[in-house]
Amino acid sequence: MDEISTEGSATPASLAMLRDVLLVPCPVCGPRNSSDLVYKGESVTRPDPNHVDEVEWRTYLYMRKNTAGWLKETWYCRNGCQRYFSLDRNTITNEFRNSPLPIKKT
Ligand SMILES: [Zn+2]
Repeated sequence: MDEISTEGSATPASLAMLRDVLLVPCPVCGPRNSSDLVYKGESVTRPDPNHVDEVEWRTYLYMRKNTAGWLKETWYCRNGCQRYFSLDRNTITNEFRNSPLPIKKT
């Protein structure tokens, strides 16, 4: 029977998976695997429903820029602090910038 070595168990496939992990800088928890968070999409400002026409409301609900480059996004920290936060991510390189300042825990 062949023995399975546990030494050096990093296979090319597992290394590729590690390389593809997206670390999202949560302002409370710090960098977290994106699987711990929920991507809520492009950040958009909600118009006042009492002073908006149908076209503007439909645009707010359904239309997104789908930018190739820097995009302001909203994330939800599902497995951590359970807070929403926004940050800028380059949709091509997955770099983050203007990360929100850490929020002090009370
Ligand atoms: Zn968090």
